[in-house]
Amino acid sequence: MQPFADEQSLLCPYCGEPVEVEVDPVGAPAETYVEDCPVCCRPWVVHVSREGEDVSVYLGREDD
Ligand SMILES: [Zn+2]
Repeated sequence: MQPFADEQSLLCPYCGEPVEVEVDPVGAPAETYVEDCPVCCRPWVVHVSREGEDVSVYLGREDD
């Protein structure tokens, strides 16, 4: 139960499928973690940046 989770619609950098990524809007101004794509199971490098209420998320590939 994460009432403040923010869901972002993005495209998987591997398979190109539209995916929903849940991020916690509260946290460090910049954060990077690895999460597996639910479609192709390859590991995204999730880059989260937070500026006040604005949370932006970028999915990178592990081999970048
Ligand atoms: Zn994928």
